[in-house]
Amino acid sequence: MATLHSDSRMLIAVRVVVVTTLLLAALLIQSTVDILLPIDYLYVTAGLTYAMTLLYIGLGKWVRSREINLVIQLAGDLIIETMLVYFTGGIDSPFSFLYLATIITGSMLLYRRGGLITASGAAILYGGLVDLMYYGVIPLPSVTFFSSGPWTPIRLYLTMATNFGGFYATALLTSYISEKLRVTFEELDANRQNLAALQALNQSIIRSIPSGLITVTHEGTMTFINPAGCEILGRSVQETIGRSIDSINLLSPDQWRHERLLLETTGIVRGELDYQRDIEARALGYAMTRLNTRRTDLSGVTVIFQDLTEMKQLEDQLRLKDRMAAVGELSAGIAHEIRNPLAAIAGSIQMLSKSERLTPQEQRLMSIAMKESDRLNKSIADFLRFVRPQEKRATDFDVAASLGETLLLLSNSQELGPSHTLVSSIEPPSFNIFGDPDQIRQVFWNLARNAIQAMPIEGRLEISTELDDQTYRIIFADSGRGMSASDQRRLFQPFRTSFPSGTGLGMAICYRIVQEHGGTISVESTEGRGTRITVALPLAVVHARGIVVAVGA
Ligand code: ADP
Ligand code: MG
Repeated sequence: MATLHSDSRMLIAVRVVVVTTLLLAALLIQSTVDILLPIDYLYVTAGLTYAMTLLYIGLGKWVRSREINLVIQLAGDLIIETMLVYFTGGIDSPFSFLYLATIITGSMLLYRRGGLITASGAAILYGGLVDLMYYGVIPLPSVTFFSSGPWTPIRLYLTMATNFGGFYATALLTSYISEKLRVTFEELDANRQNLAALQALNQSIIRSIPSGLITVTHEGTMTFINPAGCEILGRSVQETIGRSIDSINLLSPDQWRHERLLLETTGIVRGELDYQRDIEARALGYAMTRLNTRRTDLSGVTVIFQDLTEMKQLEDQLRLKDRMAAVGELSAGIAHEIRNPLAAIAGSIQMLSKSERLTPQEQRLMSIAMKESDRLNKSIADFLRFVRPQEKRATDFDVAASLGETLLLLSNSQELGPSHTLVSSIEPPSFNIFGDPDQIRQVFWNLARNAIQAMPIEGRLEISTELDDQTYRIIFADSGRGMSASDQRRLFQPFRTSFPSGTGLGMAICYRIVQEHGGTISVESTEGRGTRITVALPLAVVHARGIVVAVGA
């Protein structure tokens, strides 16, 4: 069952209040003033209004349309008002002003059309009534109370004209104002909706940008962080909002103060920093700007930041590639130039050493020269292997078995001391890939040797493999001395060594070989705790395409 429209309900309520007040006022006057007023018609009108009210309520429950309900009520009001006007003397009646109340209501609730229809209804009823009374079609009531003289045509038309003018003027004026009001309200509503939509848009933009965003008050308290910010910093909203910017170790208190001062003069401050997230260091780039809002408690600074770690790694790799290519070209040439005279020197010394006229001292010097030139030759050979790797002889071979053999060799070599533990879990124990077995074995050997050298006294080296449908991964995890972040970054650069008998070429050779097999080699290390080197060989490339990169310079 439908309930009454709020407009209809209000109209009914107002009407009941007005009629009841009128009635009570009449009764009060009746009882205080000692004259008998002819106000029976008031009782009749009030009673009728109450009856109609019940009718409206009943009707409103069946008729759903707001307009129809209102029109019925307004029409009823006009009829009752006309009756009141009739009983109180037609043009003599002071109650014609009541029409205005109905016209105002009509104009307000149904706007211009409603106002004009109500005004016309009032005009027709009023005009019809007084005309019919004037021409004696309906008898004049016996009321003399409000009578102000005989009905002359002039009076009749004047009264009618002023009333009609009043009706229409009221209708036009009221409906004009209420139309204006409606448009204003609608605009306001539209603006409110636009504002809400804009706010929602802003919110979702801030939520979905991949950069981190933090707002900080002048005092250094964080007031906002977006989801990307939480992700990059590895902290939850609870750990940030309401807390001091110092608590997240993004910028040190000194740095923060310095940047704030800079911001006052420049308006924007950019920079890069190393952020320690748990155990890993992330490279962040940031930009700070002033944040001015109307709410001074939220004003302060906006910090936008991005995780540049991957980008930096990529950059480093590219730089390394370039550098290795350049170094390779140049030094291969030089090495070659050394090798030829070296061979001549070594050959000459060998000839000379056969002479019988040499003193033992000279013999010894000769043999030193021979040994050293041999060593130099080997070093150059090693170096040339790095800058100009041998032709890759790729075959289908068992990489798991190769790894096993290398480890067996290692466990029997003098590299491994009694306090070293070697653990391996090679799963599956046999797995074929396409590549150069000698070169891959050299990678394993270099990595294992480095791991042992990184724990000269004692330690544990774990070698494991992982296989998924895209890659075959071999992991060397040692408990050695580890590397600093900057050492990690330079690990694959040639000629950087910290091992006593190192040349700094092992990792560079590994890098090159793995790269030529289409794979990647990555390092994770914590100083003082150990290092984990992962070689990932892509199955698709290794299997399907076989040799990818042409070998050698
Ligand atoms: P080399 O072994 O001749 O020094 P590498 O290229 O094999 O040259 O290694 C370069 C440097 O990287 C080493 O000198 C050492 O400082 C560091 N390094 C390599 N592997 C490890 C490891 N497992 N643990 C700690 N440091 C390592
Ligand atoms: Mg090495």
